Amino acid sequence: MRQVVLLGPRQIAVQEVDLPEPEPGEALIRVELCALCTWEQRTYTGEETFVPLLGGHEVTGRVEVINGSTYLDLHPGDRVAISLLNRCGQCQACRRGYDNICEHGFDLPLRYGIPGPAGLSEYLIAKVTDLFPMPPDVPPEHVALTEPLACVLRSIKRARIHPGEKVVIIGMGVMGVLHLQLALARGGVVIVSEPNPDRRAAALAMGATAAIDPSREAYGERILALTDGWGADVTFICVPHAAVVGPAVEAAAKNGRVLMYSSIHPRGTKVELDPNIFHNKEVVLTGTMSQSRRDFFEAAQLIAHGLV
Ligand SMILES: [Zn+2]
Ligand SMILES: [Zn+2]
Repeated sequence: MRQVVLLGPRQIAVQEVDLPEPEPGEALIRVELCALCTWEQRTYTGEETFVPLLGGHEVTGRVEVINGSTYLDLHPGDRVAISLLNRCGQCQACRRGYDNICEHGFDLPLRYGIPGPAGLSEYLIAKVTDLFPMPPDVPPEHVALTEPLACVLRSIKRARIHPGEKVVIIGMGVMGVLHLQLALARGGVVIVSEPNPDRRAAALAMGATAAIDPSREAYGERILALTDGWGADVTFICVPHAAVVGPAVEAAAKNGRVLMYSSIHPRGTKVELDPNIFHNKEVVLTGTMSQSRRDFFEAAQLIAHGLV
């Protein structure tokens, strides 16, 4: 079978390898589709240095062979979403229920000689416990978004949005759009901040109440004007720029929650904040990393039932 390997910045090769064989408790999956994460994009451009890498972890697949029995109603030919990032199950984080921040999450599987989840292959091996069956009528493009949706779902849950709260989403890329859909489903009144006019228009069409152009408008003033002077109850940062963090914290409401969904690049960048904001307004600044098994299961339910 053929398999894509990332060799270095902007260097990709297609290699021919033997069809892998599933061990007991594993399945051979034929890859239908694989979406690309910012992690793989940054590795491609050289911002991150996980090379050589068998990238691709946002996969829609069909079961070819299951080695052994399964409790799932799962048969050859069935379509599945696949959780492909490492969750060791043994470290403190996993055992405390935070498998999204598994201490070995970046110990990439070495099954093919080169590390990586290997979604950019014609076939791959996955543990049966990592397969999430999908109804046959769900488009494969939707199934491939299960993993990123699970990450967004974690972010949404951590923000604990109450109905009618003012929710600001900074950045309307794919992750921002998924935040928008889930924030609306939670009853949030959503304001987006996005310099691209087409993306602002799309956000308004999807149900956002207002859209700010941060390249031309004063972010903090606009947030206050749009929230009757109250500020943002919840702010999701869905861009990798450190410069947005300070204004987001300053525009937070009393009891506001500011979530770092995106990682900040370049890594190591510092931000300056007035600590009295946290004292005076009880603002919480936090973030989320990846997704847990439960987040993945719940995202798979949303995709399977066409709710996102
Ligand atoms: Zn991803
Ligand atoms: Zn672990």
